[in-house]
Amino acid sequence: VDSADTTHLHVDMRLTDAPRTFRVAIAAHPEYNERFWRYVRNIRATAGASIVREDSAVWRVTAPGGGTTISYSMQLPPREPSVRGSWRMFLTPRGGLVGGYDTFMYLPDLEVRNPRVTIVAPAAWRVASALAPSGERRFTAPDQLTLLDSPILLGELREWRFTAGRALHRVYYWNAANTTPFDSVAFLTGVRGLAEETIEFFGGAPYPEFTFLFQDAAYGGLEHMNSVTLGAPSDQLARNPYGTLEETAHEFIHSWNLMRLRPSGRGGLDYRPNGQTSGLWWSEGLTLYYADVLLRRAGLPIEDSSRVTHVEELLERYLFNAGNTRISPERASLAEYAGGPEVLDGYDPNVHLQGELLGTALDLMIRRATGGRRSVDDVMRSMMARFSGPRGFTGADIENTVRETCGCDVSAFFTDHVRKGVPLDFNQFLSAIGMRMSVEWKPAVDDSGKAILDYRLRAGETESGAMRVYIMDPESGWATSGLRTGDELVSIGQQAVTSQAEFREAFRSMAIGDTVRVVFKRSGAVMTKDIVAAGFRVPDVQIRPIANPAAQQLQLRKAWIEAK
Ligand SMILES: [Zn+2]
Repeated sequence: VDSADTTHLHVDMRLTDAPRTFRVAIAAHPEYNERFWRYVRNIRATAGASIVREDSAVWRVTAPGGGTTISYSMQLPPREPSVRGSWRMFLTPRGGLVGGYDTFMYLPDLEVRNPRVTIVAPAAWRVASALAPSGERRFTAPDQLTLLDSPILLGELREWRFTAGRALHRVYYWNAANTTPFDSVAFLTGVRGLAEETIEFFGGAPYPEFTFLFQDAAYGGLEHMNSVTLGAPSDQLARNPYGTLEETAHEFIHSWNLMRLRPSGRGGLDYRPNGQTSGLWWSEGLTLYYADVLLRRAGLPIEDSSRVTHVEELLERYLFNAGNTRISPERASLAEYAGGPEVLDGYDPNVHLQGELLGTALDLMIRRATGGRRSVDDVMRSMMARFSGPRGFTGADIENTVRETCGCDVSAFFTDHVRKGVPLDFNQFLSAIGMRMSVEWKPAVDDSGKAILDYRLRAGETESGAMRVYIMDPESGWATSGLRTGDELVSIGQQAVTSQAEFREAFRSMAIGDTVRVVFKRSGAVMTKDIVAAGFRVPDVQIRPIANPAAQQLQLRKAWIEAK
């Protein structure tokens, strides 16, 4: 890595004891397949070997001498228009994130024992990664998967350490150029409290060491076996040093639920798109569930003031998007990384949200059936103990574990709410704690109380340059008046729509009640619709205690509200 030229980085891959011919490939990450093979430049092989591209992500190497060095450059992807995603490779004169799926090739047909990495980077930079150090800027991994699963953060990094569950935890923070100072003591208190609570919940740390790779001026995160990349903008932390803790909790808990307790269908390296699984609702939803519950148990600051408020907000989002109540969580899971709305009749369910509510419902069901002696906590720990091996878990494994934990018949629950798309009636579950929800659909208004135009119409530029319609909900007014996701816009009213800016301009000039002529192409044919621009309704969910609750309801409610 050269800090003076951050347009690309250079990789030398030295192979010994290789067969005469073998393949190398760029692996596709199950969650974000950004086709990094597009950025490979100037690939060549030394020592009389040759290399030929076989497919987009695959090259064949012929090495008569039993070894070779394959050299290539990785061009850095174009800069993201707004804030950078923390999981993607980036380079700046102050450091960057390299390694992993975005940098290294792997050998799909061969077992590679103890791959080693040497980092060549500016002397002032520090090198942080979950890889095991074996010398000055040298690291080893037991296998290729571990190598690719361990991103490497470079630069002038801040570092803190703590021990939790007898495992060393290293916390790194990469500062952007114009960084804002923040309260690092409070920031660390949050991270450490989270780690301690999570390790206690699962009964121990499953790793010998864990590495947090926090980055300024970035958002989002990505889980790994022994590390995590996380966006933690310093200006946000300056306002609230706990402001990124929920996202941190989510990605950290994934080290158990997703990376070790894996849904079947996910795992291993593959250069083809992969990771499709019907169990994603559990892996994402229960992770969200525990990100909320464990932070509450640890007494750490959290955005939603109370657990009741948190569930009210989940239910509002659940009811607002028709996809959540029409598409089953298993079907939504399978579509998450394989087509989304295109394979779901235009619906766009949020499988993370569906899963968090399923976790909440299962928990209430088990608490009621066992008089509060058991909860979904016991299901999670039992799943972890039984299915965290290479086989992964299936939908039947979840159902069986819930049935055994609960000692009750859960087949209707799983048939209706997991496999079929029967909406959850939450009052059925809230009665366990003597509470009831009410829903009122109200017109969506802005801060001044003025009705706002239905914003569930979006447009995005396709690779051919057309402006493609995306309707967030096929039951919204835009869809019922004749537009469909996939239509290509020509004009809205007087405004031609050939770019995002023109689309925004057309949208801004509309007012509720206007009749707008929309011209678009569908399957090559030009079509015209006169559409009345309209407002829309949003659900307001209130959860309240019932009158005259039974003693058990009161007792369960107290524990539930305290997230115990
Ligand atoms: Zn996640």
